[in-house]
Amino acid sequence: MNLKDHKVAVCGAGGFIGGHIVGELMKSGVNVIRAIDVKPLDEWYQVHTSVENVEADLKDAENCDLAVRGATAVFNLAADMGGMGFIEANRALCMLSVLINTHLLLSSQQAGVSHFFFSSSACVYNADKQRTPDVIPLKESDAYPALAEDGYGWEKLFSERMCRHFEEDFGLQCRVARYHNVYGPNGTWAGGREKAPAAICRKVLEAKHSGRHEIEIWGDGHQTRSFMYIDDCVKGSRMIIESDIHEPINLGSSELITINQLVDIAESFAGIKLKRSYNLSAPKGVNGRNSDNALILDYLKWEPSTSLRQGLRKTYDWIEQQMLVAVPA
Ligand code: NAD
Repeated sequence: MNLKDHKVAVCGAGGFIGGHIVGELMKSGVNVIRAIDVKPLDEWYQVHTSVENVEADLKDAENCDLAVRGATAVFNLAADMGGMGFIEANRALCMLSVLINTHLLLSSQQAGVSHFFFSSSACVYNADKQRTPDVIPLKESDAYPALAEDGYGWEKLFSERMCRHFEEDFGLQCRVARYHNVYGPNGTWAGGREKAPAAICRKVLEAKHSGRHEIEIWGDGHQTRSFMYIDDCVKGSRMIIESDIHEPINLGSSELITINQLVDIAESFAGIKLKRSYNLSAPKGVNGRNSDNALILDYLKWEPSTSLRQGLRKTYDWIEQQMLVAVPA
């Protein structure tokens, strides 16, 4: 399948990843016919004016019919989500995203869409495999037996399953990527939904600009993670929808790092060292998580490769610009 032969609708296009996907597809000559998000247009991270931009709640079945009308390929990036602080405190809201994916699948099937992309998450993985920081990278089969992240992860796992059965029973070609921590410019960096890379960059920048050289870190700082730069996420998502991969597949970096090391990198950009305090009662997620990329390497001969230092530099610089715009000197 080549996306250039399709008319594409992108759901969740006002968000971080959706906005980048619309931009990159258009840049490469793909016919994106529609971008949809529940947020008012002036809150979208990126607005591409040559596309039909629609404000609509995709939990509503009729809006899903309108969203996919005339499209032959659909990206579903729409979900109520955020970093650990948000998903641990909003489990019901996260689970309600099941309405979005369910109605989008139904509308896509009824409208004769040929390819459907679902953005799943590493939060589907069994928590017992993520108890210690010295992780064994998670391979796709580690989602079962199921013990997903409560709320958000269970919704993703259920929706993956819906995709699988829509393909088996109705022939709708579903492609499912399990994203591992995506970061980059034009995403959430404040307000409570931001994830660790943006939150750490912001905190380091606040310390630099205020002169108060202190930082609060959620957890003990020894938690391990991998973080994927947005350009790799966009490239991999496109490769996956264009592929014949009929099973959920990891899309993540395998560069493992502790949260303390993430802070080290951000401090090096700022040229300062901060006094660290550790908030052990704050939401911190699992102790360790990394992406096993054997399957994607096997299928696509490719894996995300932007180094964290390189990607974080761009993210840090973008957040600094946003902070200066928000509070002019
Ligand atoms: P985001 O919050 O920036 O974007 C999601 C967008 O969906 C938002 O703009 C939001 O307004 C929109 N949305 C929410 N409810 C909606 C509704 N009812 N109708 C229409 N639009 C609605 O998040 P993101 O980081 O761009 O994530 C995109 C997708 O990737 C999500 O499905 C998310 O669960 C998944 N994912 C992201 C990450 C990550 O690290 N960013 C990791 C794993 C999975």
